Amino acid sequence: MAGSKYAYVRNFELPDPLLPRTFMVLRLDGHSFHRFSDEHDFTKPNDIRALKLMDHAAKDLMEQYPDVVLAFGESDEFSFLIRKSASLYNRRQSKIVSTLTSLFTSSYVFRWATYFPDRPLKYPPSFDGRLVLYPGAQEIRDYFSWRQTDTHINNLYNTTFWALVQQGGETTTQAHTTLKGTVSKEKNEILFSRFHINYNTLDAQFRKGSILVREEISEEPVPDTSTTADTSTENDTTTSPASSLPKMRGRTKPRTKVVVLHCDIIKDKFWDARPEILS
Ligand code: ATP
Ligand code: ATP
Ligand code: MG
Ligand code: MG
Ligand code: MG
Ligand code: MG
Repeated sequence: MAGSKYAYVRNFELPDPLLPRTFMVLRLDGHSFHRFSDEHDFTKPNDIRALKLMDHAAKDLMEQYPDVVLAFGESDEFSFLIRKSASLYNRRQSKIVSTLTSLFTSSYVFRWATYFPDRPLKYPPSFDGRLVLYPGAQEIRDYFSWRQTDTHINNLYNTTFWALVQQGGETTTQAHTTLKGTVSKEKNEILFSRFHINYNTLDAQFRKGSILVREEISEEPVPDTSTTADTSTENDTTTSPASSLPKMRGRTKPRTKVVVLHCDIIKDKFWDARPEILS
């Protein structure tokens, strides 16, 4: 197509392809959620409504993008694993990061009132997004272990901190001082002896975060759709999310749904039960 005399500026847009056959991890994080959670009266240390809203936005994203095979969420962040064979948007980095981050954000706003019916949004929240490539399964295992360990460390600290403030009558400054330099064992001890809280009996969502995976729901024959005419005029069709679903001919395609778990993702058990995630 002939362009105008101005069209040369397009040449300044550089391609940003991601290395083929590598795992992609997209991590989103709420922008200034310290303030956002204050302004919207989140319960401290863990507002369950806010966590469920994050889970729902992540579920919406996984339902639109079949290439996302695993997600992990805690606090105001979510990580998404995109399978290494994905050809999503021809593996253009900024297209993937911006589109998925935008979908997550709009879903968060779209569903806000379901989780906070009596707390209208005071201003539009936003999320940052970054994408990192990992060469192998070990790095992916370690990545998710890193995030779940972070969940544990933060939750133990925050639970103890807010017990000192809310039940112990300490100011936030005093609570910081009380906890300075303490190790896990000492925080558990403070929780148990002073507040009769057994850390291990707290809600698993707070201790383990949220893990989203696809689970099979049934085995039904799927009609052969490979001869259906493609009426789309889009030239990007081959790499659009919906068309990256595997095409099955005369086979049964397992139907799946996205489920939210609050289990251990560090030990082998989770991964041994789901070898397809790292395939
Ligand atoms: P940045 O823009 O750099 O990410 P931030 O203020 O969002 O800054 P984070 O390190 O991401 O800082 O921390 C998010 C903060 O949001 C937490 O420290 C906590 O105060 C608050 N927060 C997020 N989710 C919840 C929740 N479910 N319940 C209570 N507080 C929450
Ligand atoms: P991509 O995801 O690649 O951007 P796209 O479908 O968004 O695909 P664009 O080239 O961005 O394609 O074009 C946006 C299309 O959206 C327009 O071609 C037009 O059909 C429609 N559109 C956008 N804004 C308006 C509007 N204000 N009124 C009518 N149609 C609109
Ligand atoms: Mg931060
Ligand atoms: Mg944040
Ligand atoms: Mg954060
Ligand atoms: Mg467009």
